[in-house]
Amino acid sequence: MRQILIAGNWKMNGSRASIRELLDGVKAGLGDVKSAEMAVCAPFPYLGDVQSQLNGSSVSWGGQDLSVEEKGAFTGETSASMLLDFSCKYVIVGHSERRTLYGEDDALVAQKYAVARKAGLKPILCVGETLEEREKNITEDVVARQIKAVIDLEGVSALADGVIAYEPVWAIGTGKTASPEQAQAVHAFIRSLVAEQDAGVAEKVQILYGGSMNPANAAELLSQSDIDGGLIGGASLKADDFLAIGKAAG
Ligand code: PEP
Repeated sequence: MRQILIAGNWKMNGSRASIRELLDGVKAGLGDVKSAEMAVCAPFPYLGDVQSQLNGSSVSWGGQDLSVEEKGAFTGETSASMLLDFSCKYVIVGHSERRTLYGEDDALVAQKYAVARKAGLKPILCVGETLEEREKNITEDVVARQIKAVIDLEGVSALADGVIAYEPVWAIGTGKTASPEQAQAVHAFIRSLVAEQDAGVAEKVQILYGGSMNPANAAELLSQSDIDGGLIGGASLKADDFLAIGKAAG
């Protein structure tokens, strides 16, 4: 049985005050979350606050991106060691917003995965097709290409040290969720792709679904055999919704 992971991606939202309130609410309701691991990926400036608030709780935390560089003249960048300084467990790499708005390609995302992993962080590798790609019936090709970039650089065993998040781009922040069947089909494809190279890694790797997951659709999505959790944007900004998704994992 793979552990269910419900990870919040706050994106560029919140303030010191709103995050304090949000995490107070999350901590107060954790008793209802029976089996899922809960995590939040916060904007960099708030990681110190998140660390002090979550230390000693069962909630993990992480960053939303990292640099491939170790240190030096890279204005605006944040290194793996800086994330570790705030005891981050996770870091998101290759979110579709980074790929489309900031031009991150598969090769850079694979490098970020490698740097995070080597530093001892758990990278959450985001993959997923645009609406145009889905309509052209190339969803599997796109997802395979994105995952193979990591396998080619690091070997398939690297996937055992991270998490994959399948996030159809057309479902992110749009209120349109992939149906449980659509999501399960892609998750099963991803697992079979990994299994072609290493059945043990395929069995172990957590594959999260992301894209407008909310308290109303979470239970059905999470009941699919190859869906091992969720990467949650909008609904992770409300303590009750985030907790309800964690509870829906059973
Ligand atoms: C995301 O940003 O990773 C995401 C899934 O967002 P939302 O839940 O808002 O669609």
